[in-house]
Amino acid sequence: MPLNACELEIDLFCRGMRLPDDVSLAGARSVSRTRAGLGSGLEIAVPSRSMLKREIWVNVPVVERFARSSPYRLAGGPQEGYAIVDDRDTTRYPVRLPAAPAWYSRQTSRDVPMHRIGVLQGTYLAIYVNPVCAFWNADPRLNCKFCTTGQNVGAAEAATKTISDVVETCWAAKQESDVTFVHLNGGFQGTHGLEFIKPYVKAIKESVGLLVGVQLAPERDFTKYDELVALGVDHFSFCLELLDPDWFARVCPGKARVHGQSLYFDAMAHCARLLPHGAVAGEIIAGIEPMARTLEAIDRIVALGAFPTVCVFRPTVGADMESWPTPSYEEIRTVMRHMYDACRRHWLPIGVAPNIEVSLVVNPDDAALLAKRTAGFYVYEAYRRLARIAARPIFGRRMRAG
Ligand code: SF4
Repeated sequence: MPLNACELEIDLFCRGMRLPDDVSLAGARSVSRTRAGLGSGLEIAVPSRSMLKREIWVNVPVVERFARSSPYRLAGGPQEGYAIVDDRDTTRYPVRLPAAPAWYSRQTSRDVPMHRIGVLQGTYLAIYVNPVCAFWNADPRLNCKFCTTGQNVGAAEAATKTISDVVETCWAAKQESDVTFVHLNGGFQGTHGLEFIKPYVKAIKESVGLLVGVQLAPERDFTKYDELVALGVDHFSFCLELLDPDWFARVCPGKARVHGQSLYFDAMAHCARLLPHGAVAGEIIAGIEPMARTLEAIDRIVALGAFPTVCVFRPTVGADMESWPTPSYEEIRTVMRHMYDACRRHWLPIGVAPNIEVSLVVNPDDAALLAKRTAGFYVYEAYRRLARIAARPIFGRRMRAG
């Protein structure tokens, strides 16, 4: 039986996809190893044929070793349209390959190609703002084992991004790609990361008028979060990654040594009190630690009023965990269904912000396609629809420059 769009998204994250040489990708977004490396795949949009969501965006792994043995392959072309074929039973799933925006090949006033400043990951603009994460420069290295930031910054993306680079790229993305949200992330910078990002937030809010998300290592001086909210930050996310303390220390040695897990939860709780319900996220990776811990992490995040962002573990090329196996479809399906149910139980208004589709993860509202159709499901979906309508003027105001 064919998979629904969210099930296909999950299976593609777990198995990847083959790209035959004779399939042209002309005009499509190129594979871009930016940020922690998760954006290493091919961007596609899967029509859902569901009232719950029109399309589901997926950054499909294609360059990793596991993708070479995937049952899925891309077929078709730019003229006739694309489909993903499952060679196990010849099921064809029509998909869309979003075009690379024209601004990717333009330059900022400092002559830096804009695609080296920011990239589209789904429908939002992603920019790694900080210098390379300090965990990569420690001796011995303390980087997270799944991460490739230390190899990407300065290679696939510009090492230094000035405020004007960022503002000009945000402008182009807003005007030409209808972007509503820019996500500024960065690695560990001691106690300077939040201070460093402030002028970027201020400039984007004043000159461009986008929703701004910040994802940086947590810092102990929580007044920095208050200051960023005063500057207009709309969203914070905190990359806890793993809940099991042993797995956390093994996979994220820098985070375990310098931060400790409780700082992630404390910072999340503080920011959840500052911002509207559901504006803060806790990011975790499914497929490394035992699944029960992942489900527990989801429950702890939603109990704080934050929503879970659940990445499917991807053994990216060049990462210390490059040769690790990918998780199973069944396990990840269980996790994603739990994620949606947890959001429903806590009345989190997921999927409310305008035009924010994240291709790197299974968005909480993607997982509505996995949920049991109970009375609770329909009541929650009606609530989400009303929340979307009620929030429109609020987001409209927050996206005004000045
Ligand atoms: S904190 Fe970990 S995941 Fe984030 S950039 Fe540094 S090494 Fe990579």
